[in-house]
Amino acid sequence: MKIIKKSKEINLIIKNFKNTGFVPTMGSLHKGHESLIKKSKTQNKFTFVSIFLNPKQFNNKKDLKKYPKKIKNDIKICKNLKVDYLFLPSFKEVFTWKTKNKKYPKINNLMEQKFRRGHFRGVLQVIEKLLDILPARKIYLGEKDYQQLVIIKNYINLNKINCKVVKCKTFRDKNGLALSSRNKLLSTQALDKASKVIKFIRYLKKKKHNLDIIIKSTKKYLKDNEIKYDYIENINLDKFKIQNKITNKTRIFIAFYIKNIRLIDNF
Ligand code: AMP
Repeated sequence: MKIIKKSKEINLIIKNFKNTGFVPTMGSLHKGHESLIKKSKTQNKFTFVSIFLNPKQFNNKKDLKKYPKKIKNDIKICKNLKVDYLFLPSFKEVFTWKTKNKKYPKINNLMEQKFRRGHFRGVLQVIEKLLDILPARKIYLGEKDYQQLVIIKNYINLNKINCKVVKCKTFRDKNGLALSSRNKLLSTQALDKASKVIKFIRYLKKKKHNLDIIIKSTKKYLKDNEIKYDYIENINLDKFKIQNKITNKTRIFIAFYIKNIRLIDNF
């Protein structure tokens, strides 16, 4: 595995290859990230991973400060997975890179867009640079951040970038909780509390309760357990809009807080 810190250098390397997969991350890697990397390894000759904690997408400075950082371990994980190139740029390397005439897609004002003002703008700002520095043929994105995945896909289509978005399933722990770098900030007890929320909604959905009952019962469950939340919404995945009926085209999305740590999920 080669570790590269300079944008110019990695850009020259990737331009020599056609069969390339790119996995952008913010580090503190876990099995969820690993599943994306493994998928890219099976589908491409060369896998590029980036670790860049993008300050522009943190609407809350405290959140950025406490975001877990585990670079040594991240490098070890990438080596073990036989990543071909690991890109570890500085802020300057990313944001002094010049891009030409890129347009940003319209974003519906719901969920993360509504509750984390400026977040997706920051995501697009970094994706604009990273996809230009690393023009891979495929980019691997997780369904855990579904809204982000849709926005990046719209950005790629709008700018006619020759890169296919590969959607990757959410990797969960044995209790059904989606793995997240932020989980590293939680105690076992807190993680248990979080996984119970997920189990509760998935149980109601499996029992084929109607949407109204699922939403009302979940809100009651959250209130009874003193769990703060930003939203719980049923979203049509094609239109990416709220839908008042559960179908095979919809998913329930939630953002909630355990000990001030914000967790998102969808199922
Ligand atoms: P992050 O480091 O949080 O920016 O995540 C980098 C990529 O990994 C994004 O495409 C995420 O959607 C994806 N990802 C994060 N957690 C998981 C998970 N539990 N399962 C699958 N993909 C994930």
